[in-house]
Amino acid sequence: MAERLESSESGEIQEIRSAVRQLCARYGEDYWLALDRDNGYPTEFVRELTQSGFLTVLIPEEYGGAGLGVVEASVVMEEVCRSGAHAGACHAQMYVMGSVLRHGNDEQKRRYLPKIASGELRLQSFGVTEPTTGTDTTNLKTVARRDGDDYVINGQKVWISRIQHSDLMVLLARTTPRDQVKRKTEGLSAFIVDVKAAEGNGLEIRPIESMINHHSCELFFDELRISRENLLGEEGAGFKVILDGMNAERVLIAAECVGDGRYFIDKATAYAKERVVFDRPIGQNQGVQFPIARCYAEVEAAALMVERAARLFDAGEPCGAEANMAKMLASEASWHAGDVCMQTHGGFAFAKEYHIERKFRETRLYQIAPISTNLILSFIGEHVLGMPRSF
Ligand SMILES: Cc1cc2nc3c(=O)[nH]c(=O)nc-3n(C[C@H](O)[C@H](O)[C@H](O)COP(=O)(O)OP(=O)(O)OC[C@H]3O[C@@H](n4cnc5c(N)ncnc54)[C@H](O)[C@@H]3O)c2cc1C
Repeated sequence: MAERLESSESGEIQEIRSAVRQLCARYGEDYWLALDRDNGYPTEFVRELTQSGFLTVLIPEEYGGAGLGVVEASVVMEEVCRSGAHAGACHAQMYVMGSVLRHGNDEQKRRYLPKIASGELRLQSFGVTEPTTGTDTTNLKTVARRDGDDYVINGQKVWISRIQHSDLMVLLARTTPRDQVKRKTEGLSAFIVDVKAAEGNGLEIRPIESMINHHSCELFFDELRISRENLLGEEGAGFKVILDGMNAERVLIAAECVGDGRYFIDKATAYAKERVVFDRPIGQNQGVQFPIARCYAEVEAAALMVERAARLFDAGEPCGAEANMAKMLASEASWHAGDVCMQTHGGFAFAKEYHIERKFRETRLYQIAPISTNLILSFIGEHVLGMPRSF
């Protein structure tokens, strides 16, 4: 079992695993099922994860966090998912942190980080995707126009998750038109937006009904004013700011997929041992046993790539290739494990009380968001293998 591999981990990592497991055990699968049914938000769970310090592991100690790295943060997210919980409710705080820590100035860090660490402020939202441009991020249409000491934002975003449960959002907008910059990645800027102050004053938020419970919304910006002090990093260099967050995001989402994968394998294995049909446990049939064993191998292989990407990120080394590969391999492994878990459970897989169909829906997202598999393959083909650029 996965425990064999985990036993080679450092004592500190094992302690984190065990403490997160204990915390998650207080929020059983029925808690998540009820939230899924009612489209609710796990306020108590997120509060406890924050107050216990796990959701703020990446914040440096001087600002009230644990000062740990993406390696440790990955273990937290993995264990949350492995417990049957839905990390989509809170994971953004971890990966948006990469942008704030690396690009925020001292004043911004002093203003926001201690309050995020204490739970007073929630940084759970980031606004990149737009309805008309999708994956073609540098073509986004939302603009930030400079006006004195302010920027004035106009445009539209879609699928912006958790914004109604967040105090702050990191927003990407264009500050210089695309035809006036040398490279299309230039001329974009990132901002920290105070969501509560903005709503009703140039920001309109409309929830989207969707298959999974990410509390995603459409955003409409109409002359929203934000102070120049809220610019994150240099004007025009916002793509780099977002990219640093994105590599952390890919690693953390991949860790969640490893957690989902291990969850599905645990469930499938337990059921295959206990369910008796034709007078023997179904897991005695190799037609049932082998697919689970194959998924185990796939998930454990993906876990190694997640760990490698996380270590490179923490060392400040380039990790784009590894972060992308980790995300692709882990999202495919967890989806495969979910499918096999469904098959192993037969008809009972569809009964909500077994929780599998909920996790099955949740894990499917990660082959599409935050980046789709095709775009990862394109990154590997072009940037790692040097094949011709296709777009
Ligand atoms: C539940 C949910 C939560 C989300 N949360 C957030 C959030 O908090 N913040 C945020 O900014 N965004 C968020 N997103 C958006 C998400 O990141 C995008 O949906 C995702 O990046 C894909 O963009 P798209 O939906 O516009 O697909 P499109 O860009 O329209 O692509 C559609 C399909 O075509 C493929 N495709 C497109 N171009 C090419 C090409 N050149 N070659 C090969 N294949 C191609 C893609 O791989 C994809 O499969 C969320 C999405 C969902 C569903």
